Amino acid sequence: MTPTLPILIVGGGISGLVCAYALRKAGIEAQLVEASTKPGGVIRSEIREGFLLDLGPQSISGTAALRSLCADLGIADQVEQAPSAAPRYVLIDGALKAVPLSPPAMLSSSFLSPRTKWRIARDALGTTRAPEEDESVAAFVRRKFGAELLERLVGPFVSGIYAGDPERLSLRAAFPQLYEAEQSAGSVIRGMRRAAKSRKGPRERPSLLSFRDGNETLVRALAAKIGPGLRVGAEVVGISVHREPAGATGFEIRISASGREETVLAERLIVATSADVAGTLLRDVNAAFEPVLAGIEYAPVAVVSLGYRREDVSHSLAGFGFLVPRSSSLQVLGTVWNSSLFPGRTPAGHVLLTSFVGGATNPGAAALSAQELSKLVHNEIAPLLQIRAAPMFSHVQTCRHALPQYNIGHMDRLRALERLRADLPALSFIGNYLRGPAIGNCVQLALATAEAIRSRAKST
Ligand SMILES: Cc1cc2nc3c(=O)[nH]c(=O)nc-3n(C[C@H](O)[C@H](O)[C@H](O)COP(=O)(O)OP(=O)(O)OC[C@H]3O[C@@H](n4cnc5c(N)ncnc54)[C@H](O)[C@@H]3O)c2cc1C
Repeated sequence: MTPTLPILIVGGGISGLVCAYALRKAGIEAQLVEASTKPGGVIRSEIREGFLLDLGPQSISGTAALRSLCADLGIADQVEQAPSAAPRYVLIDGALKAVPLSPPAMLSSSFLSPRTKWRIARDALGTTRAPEEDESVAAFVRRKFGAELLERLVGPFVSGIYAGDPERLSLRAAFPQLYEAEQSAGSVIRGMRRAAKSRKGPRERPSLLSFRDGNETLVRALAAKIGPGLRVGAEVVGISVHREPAGATGFEIRISASGREETVLAERLIVATSADVAGTLLRDVNAAFEPVLAGIEYAPVAVVSLGYRREDVSHSLAGFGFLVPRSSSLQVLGTVWNSSLFPGRTPAGHVLLTSFVGGATNPGAAALSAQELSKLVHNEIAPLLQIRAAPMFSHVQTCRHALPQYNIGHMDRLRALERLRADLPALSFIGNYLRGPAIGNCVQLALATAEAIRSRAKST
């Protein structure tokens, strides 16, 4: 007779790992299965030829929840903080211009024309109403602030966060704070200020961090704490509903590992894979899951890491890096100046620059060969950063399902998903397509899910 597990989590990316860790810490026997031989999903760090590479996310938002998780895991001393004042640049008219990051700085800089500045001031003083329909990010910015702000600032930042297309991303799904601000105050600026004032607890200063040995440090620490609760190289290939003798609904999960298939039973199931995989796996539980989850698109991204001798790069590289508006002729979406942010990323006398290509606006480019991508990126960034020689190191990591797109209709899809899930109270979803794609969002949802299960277990 197959023993019944209290909880099975499918998918050992950051979402599944954090959830398993929090449940086991609370004394709840959660088992996590991960298809790949390594946990962490898109978070991977590697040392190659003396360069410390992050092959997915480059930095993590230093939220209070994340810092407290690091302290709990015993890795707080390995945290590296990016310089808080590091400027970000956008490519405007062929040159890199520093982005003013607050409304006052924006009004006093030459980054925007007087007409756009006037429209920002008009938002602070006037009142507008959002349309009923699901508005795209691009339509919202054009309506409130004009095309220039979309082109110079919002579009590039949308590339940086979602690798997305602002014409298709839904404002209320992708940037709920902006939507709520207009809804509540009739003004983005007044609404954001009001929301900041009403937030409880000490004010968090935005910060970005990584770890001495790269972002995978977080994954390794979580995996070590989960210990025997984590099984790698075990792919879930099918899930069906299992009626317990007492009438409760559990799950029968088919797992393929080392060329053999086995079945486990679980009272509760937490699906922590990407949306499309979740839909396929749950087909036999309820066929209606699949079309809803398959409706969430993912954009592909190629991560191109290039190492140069410092003497071959004339630009100061003082800053975070730069983003590229889609109207430019470049295919690079943006470049992070890793060696300016965190120490120990390169051999002495070298710099490391990581660029992103592809995304929702140019998916085909992510499918180029590694050689083509290295060449393309070098050719595009060399004139901007005054690079005089070819890179002496290059690495390309392509992620076909890199980032979920919170496109128009996303909130309807999530509501439909919740309606289907409500019929199966022992089923939960976590992952980057639900409450934001950033690691901080995934951690927050995973912790909240574990906490909800813990408090329910306590009250029964
Ligand atoms: C190129 C790139 C750059 C990014 N940059 C940043 C950044 O700078 N800052 C930031 O905060 N965020 C960034 N992100 C976003 C963030 O890293 C991800 O959204 C987050 O790590 C996703 O975690 P996850 O656990 O939800 O999903 P995933 O990492 O996708 O994990 C899902 C896991 O499920 C496993 N799985 C799939 N199918 C099965 C199965 N059948 N059985 C068992 N296991 C299965 C997979 O192998 C995988 O390990 C970036 C993402 C990418 C791709």
